[in-house]
Amino acid sequence: MQFKSTRNQDNIVTASQAIVQGLATDGGLYVPTEWPSIDLDWSELKEMTYQELAYFVMSIFFDDFSEADLKACIDGAYDEKFDTDVIAPLAKVGDDYYLELFHGPTIAFKDLALQILPHLMKKSAEMNANDKEIAILTATSGDTGKAAMAGFADVPGTKIIVFYPQGGVSTIQEKQMVTQKGDNTFVVAIEGNFDDAQTEVKRLFNDEALRADLAAENIQFSSANSMNIGRLIPQVVYYFYAYAQLVKHEEIEAGSPVNFVVPTGNFGDILAGYYAQKLGLPVGKLVCASNDNTVLYDFFNTGVYDKNREFKLTISPSMDILVSSNFERMLFHALGDDVAQLSALMNDLDEKGRYEFPADVSEKFASFLGEFADEDQTKAEIDRVYQEYDYLMDPHTGVASASLQKLKAKDVLSGPSVVVSTASPYKFPQAVLTAIGQDVEHATDDELVANIQSAGNRDYPNAIKEIQTAEVRHNRVSTVADMKATVVGILTRE
Ligand SMILES: *Cc1c(COP(=O)(O)O)cnc(C)c1O
Repeated sequence: MQFKSTRNQDNIVTASQAIVQGLATDGGLYVPTEWPSIDLDWSELKEMTYQELAYFVMSIFFDDFSEADLKACIDGAYDEKFDTDVIAPLAKVGDDYYLELFHGPTIAFKDLALQILPHLMKKSAEMNANDKEIAILTATSGDTGKAAMAGFADVPGTKIIVFYPQGGVSTIQEKQMVTQKGDNTFVVAIEGNFDDAQTEVKRLFNDEALRADLAAENIQFSSANSMNIGRLIPQVVYYFYAYAQLVKHEEIEAGSPVNFVVPTGNFGDILAGYYAQKLGLPVGKLVCASNDNTVLYDFFNTGVYDKNREFKLTISPSMDILVSSNFERMLFHALGDDVAQLSALMNDLDEKGRYEFPADVSEKFASFLGEFADEDQTKAEIDRVYQEYDYLMDPHTGVASASLQKLKAKDVLSGPSVVVSTASPYKFPQAVLTAIGQDVEHATDDELVANIQSAGNRDYPNAIKEIQTAEVRHNRVSTVADMKATVVGILTRE
């Protein structure tokens, strides 16, 4: 299997090269050059552990890794750092299923990819005889940064710098980041929103002079954002795993379609679902659920992608995004892997902040359905499911769950649906408790998590126990304009 850039058909690399680079140097994203057809024998797949299924899926994409190396990466990632040995449990709640992807060390779904990415990256560097120090630059809307640092902390030969929007993340998320351990981890609060930070990180990646300066110091950038296929591909696994669990527990017949409802920000999670479908997983619809930032919902309805709008801060901050970087990959596929057409749309996005899809969206994106839930609908859904089923969900999951109910009410979705549950309610306690009717405006963080425990009947995750006692280790603040100087300072002087 090889990977090609969305911006240059001739830029073709192996998996390990794509993983080390992160972003293609032409500014594009790496995508598979082909979709192998594989034999899905569910009687076998349903008996596999998460780790076994991870090898089954990842070995298709990462075929330049030896079996022993890939298995070592998998075993190093999906171990007792997760609080359940099934890694990604599937809960049945009423008629719907919730795929709980928040049992990792930072209690959000990004752990599923970011626990393995450092292992893949180290191995990839070795395979390509690359002895440069790898500098990970990451803009985060709250969850990626912590999950990436948790994966990379004290990994030899790497440094990681995380930028987060000051005031744009929950207090728990902020505490998780500023208490991060590891001598190679650096956290910077940005005076700006997530898109500002992400745009500047992308610009730094493509800054050739900077790249040359760093190369002279034997340093090379890479990305832990979901632009890196080393992060995207591991996410394909849990779609297979969820399906396998449904077959195993006789909730569905092998081969029958299942919908996945995905709370979407950067479009990485849902794109992994699309890749699973391309490998033959019987996916019905992939529901792209948005919060009040409805850029993608509007695109699916009108064919126009338009980021010229107010950026809304919501109770689901990891979805507060106007430019979904992985959507470039999906657009590319929808355009029949046409580099010229894709580049034209991306130019429009750069220059005008909008583009118009040149073909019929409902045909070219037939696997997808766009939906959204506003703040009130999200809170009402968290409350409804809690009152009816005693199941407590976080606001991101709430957006997806509310979107699912809206689609069911419109009668446009049939068959069983899996809501991809991306964060633990412990991560957003204020919003969750308010949604279920508790008055917690003046509660301390410790009181908030205690209330989540008694409401949700879930033990404290390690992530929560840790931040209750951990010391603050990071206090850098930067303007967007100073991000480059901050990066150079950290990489060359510390
Ligand atoms: C990152 C994140 C999302 C969005 O996932 P994308 O892959 O960026 O679409 C949704 N929910 C939570 C909790 C997240 O951390």
